Amino acid sequence: MTIEEKQGSDILINEIAEDKENTAPLNPEPKAKEAVRQIPIHKLDMKRLIELDACTRCGECLSWCPVYDQDSRENLIPRRKIMDFLRLARSQNGFLSWIMKSDRINDSLKKIIGRICGYREPTKEQVDEFVFNLYECSTCGQCEVVCPAHIDTVNLWEELRRLIVRAGYGPLEPQKALRKSVMTYDNPWQQPRAGRTKWSRRAKKDNLILEEPREIQKTKGKVLLFFGCTASYDANVKQVAINTINILETLNIDYGVLGKDEKCCGSVLLRMGDPEYKRLFQENIDQFNSLGIETLISSCSGCFKTIMQDYPKIGKLNFEVLHTVEYLARLLKTGELTFSHPVNRDITFHDPCHLGRATGGFDAPRMIIDAIPGLNLVEMPRNREYSRCCGAGGGLKAGFPDIQGRMAQRRIKEAEDTGAKELVSCCPFCYQGLQVGIGVSGSSIVMKDLSAHIAESLLGYDVFERAEKEAEDKKREKEAAKAKKESEAKREPEAKKEPVE
Ligand code: SF4
Ligand code: SF4
Repeated sequence: MTIEEKQGSDILINEIAEDKENTAPLNPEPKAKEAVRQIPIHKLDMKRLIELDACTRCGECLSWCPVYDQDSRENLIPRRKIMDFLRLARSQNGFLSWIMKSDRINDSLKKIIGRICGYREPTKEQVDEFVFNLYECSTCGQCEVVCPAHIDTVNLWEELRRLIVRAGYGPLEPQKALRKSVMTYDNPWQQPRAGRTKWSRRAKKDNLILEEPREIQKTKGKVLLFFGCTASYDANVKQVAINTINILETLNIDYGVLGKDEKCCGSVLLRMGDPEYKRLFQENIDQFNSLGIETLISSCSGCFKTIMQDYPKIGKLNFEVLHTVEYLARLLKTGELTFSHPVNRDITFHDPCHLGRATGGFDAPRMIIDAIPGLNLVEMPRNREYSRCCGAGGGLKAGFPDIQGRMAQRRIKEAEDTGAKELVSCCPFCYQGLQVGIGVSGSSIVMKDLSAHIAESLLGYDVFERAEKEAEDKKREKEAAKAKKESEAKREPEAKKEPVE
């Protein structure tokens, strides 16, 4: 385009813009206000309604919320979430809202009544902001521990999320992929169902597991090991599944797994307020009950909490539910588990929210750490019920990855300050979440699942280190054999040469 042509086109664009300005109406109609859909508050039971009124606005939750620690917007702390929800609920329910919605009362009277009673119709923007704040929470339960009014906050947030989803406002856009994946593939990681057992075939081939997991349908074992989606699909977290299998095999436990029939526990749906969780819970309950098992164990704190605490609200379980560390701590007490090989290391321990605060499982992991010779625990200042959340749960990682990364970094800093070389937890979700913090902060601390230390002390070696060493030895042998072959091939023609007279 020549300069003249360019100038011509600029003039044309300016003319079109001016034309538009000239033809635009002088007093445009205000954009129609988007109607706010009804939040079905009538679905809340009396306990929740009382809890909403019980908040004394003391603000204790503000000092403890790990999300607020990284995003200091007061609107996301429990106190404000409760206030904003109540304002929304009151504006949509009760006598005043009935007056405001009634066709029998004229607009000027409504205006007067509204002004006298301080009535304000909620706007779509206000609802959107409340929804955003409600989901900016990892459901870690820290506010519940410190709340002097004893508000059962985690269950309250989950119920409010369910109301929000029912009204068509939740979950947040980035969280919808998790839901879709659970509905399509029975796992939140968008992986095909057939891939659920792939890790075990690979692990056997790589000599990482003593035996491939036994299928409970065939063994009729009394203990069902529920892996959960994260340990089954995430290549970085497969060590949890591998070590758990090695522990159970070494202890000769009468266990079994569901294999390809294992499905997501549904935790992710429940935490995000999706009503589909009920269907998934019921299907799993029916499947578990049909197995005739006595105990279900899981090395995932999220699955454990969900099956142990949330499933019974939907249906009866004919078996007990334990986290693997609790099951092993019990064997330790009865003398069926003893550790003989030392694991000489200084570690610090991160209590997973779903094992610790949610179910009180603080002692079992510490009992095991204490029993492993050589393992030295250096506690972080925030431990047990005050353990600082890594941010991986409650849909926060999917909805607010940046906040989760900062929360994990904060926890990593605390772990580093103890001087320990390893950060240990017992949850694949925490493992994943804290790894983010290690990656972002470039920390040299090593993330481990407690199952790794248990397996190492039982076997006398770390299966991953051994497999790595074996692979290196094999590679060296192969290279040596190749070098030998090459030097022999070189020598051969020389030997065949006629001696020079
Ligand atoms: S559950 Fe945790 S993240 Fe959510 S509001 Fe309470 S303290 Fe904050
Ligand atoms: S700690 Fe409990 S009572 Fe106090 S402001 Fe927070 S939610 Fe309300």
